[in-house]
Amino acid sequence: MRIAMISEHASPLAVLGGEDAGGQNTHVAELATALAAAGHDVRVYTRRDSVALPVSVRTAEGYEVVHVPAGPPEPVGKDTLLPYMEPFADWLARWWGSGGWAPEVAHAHFWMSGLAALSAGRRTGVPVVQTYHALGTVKRRHQGTRDTSPAGRVDYERALGVSVDRIVAQSRDEVRELVAMGVPRSRMTVVPSGVNLRAFTPVGPVADRADGLARVLTVGRLVERKGFQEVIRAMRAVPDAECVVVGGPPAGAIDDDPHARRLRALAAACGVADRVRLVGAVPREEMGRWYRSADILVAAPWYEPFGLTPLEGMACGVPVVGAAVGGIVDTVVDGLTGDLVPPRDPDALGTAIRRLLTDRERRFAYATAALDRARERYSWTRTAGQLAEVYAAVTAARRPTRVVA
Ligand code: UDP
Repeated sequence: MRIAMISEHASPLAVLGGEDAGGQNTHVAELATALAAAGHDVRVYTRRDSVALPVSVRTAEGYEVVHVPAGPPEPVGKDTLLPYMEPFADWLARWWGSGGWAPEVAHAHFWMSGLAALSAGRRTGVPVVQTYHALGTVKRRHQGTRDTSPAGRVDYERALGVSVDRIVAQSRDEVRELVAMGVPRSRMTVVPSGVNLRAFTPVGPVADRADGLARVLTVGRLVERKGFQEVIRAMRAVPDAECVVVGGPPAGAIDDDPHARRLRALAAACGVADRVRLVGAVPREEMGRWYRSADILVAAPWYEPFGLTPLEGMACGVPVVGAAVGGIVDTVVDGLTGDLVPPRDPDALGTAIRRLLTDRERRFAYATAALDRARERYSWTRTAGQLAEVYAAVTAARRPTRVVA
């Protein structure tokens, strides 16, 4: 099948860990890889954000990345990209309608991509599948006036929900949120993200560890809602352990990052500065070393549409202490593959981490069950197969039915 993926701000080729580069980039890269491996013809359309980028790049994984000229060819924060979605759509419509390569289905990632895909799809007859990755209602609830999303985001997301051919939600929590927004449940299919089971394995190289200290690892973009400040506060209750934070700008530039500076100041104020280490961005292919070096992976976001890092930790056989939010409630089974605690509660987090670090048997049992669960339920092959069924269904639904005389 010819599949277009639209991912306006999140290129599958981007370096991860920066403010706007995280799970969506990984998701799109892995999904495109798995679909290409299954024999599909996949093109990923992302905004051209550097003059150095060629129009199109063929990846070693067998899919193509097309850099769409829309807006200035330089990095632009994702919250200011909305005005460029119409030129993005015009470009897609022109290419898809030119008689050359045209997709049978377009899968949009994030709401702005959805607008572009829908606009181009309407002009060219291409059906659209939408994955939100994050929802404006949730962001506004947690960030209040600090939410820099464009005005109208929630209305756009609702309008997309009733206009696209199919919504692919990634968790039960996302379904609940969408229903509360007024999007009918019948328009949604739940397909969770996958995890790369070749990159994330229990056996392999391990990052260096400090002598005599257990390791609590936490991973993600250095933004407030990832809850690293709660993890640092929790470390007061966890003696003999270091907290390693992976993500943010590259190691050399981490001291210039304002959130990194806040985290360091907090660690000093909590008296744990000597046990908190900010590693900075780690290339995707080296992430497994860091997960494998951990006794526990902590994922303590305030909210989380899906949350790849707990799943990556699980696939490396690492028990997870997670905040009971979003997709983490689906991936981490409380008391079986890890422990869930309320979000933004450093005391509960500290207690859970300490308890698990002092209980070797429980850690072993969680790790074994976590690995099983990641392998059984969350392979990209399985996810890509489920999505291919969705694509086939929306394409078939668009085909005119033949009237048999
Ligand atoms: N990641 C990475 N290097 C880093 C930090 C993060 O490769 O230095 C990857 C991480 O392995 C995961 C993704 O970025 O695949 C983060 O995804 P998640 O869903 O946890 O968070 P998001 O960024 O989507 O909010």
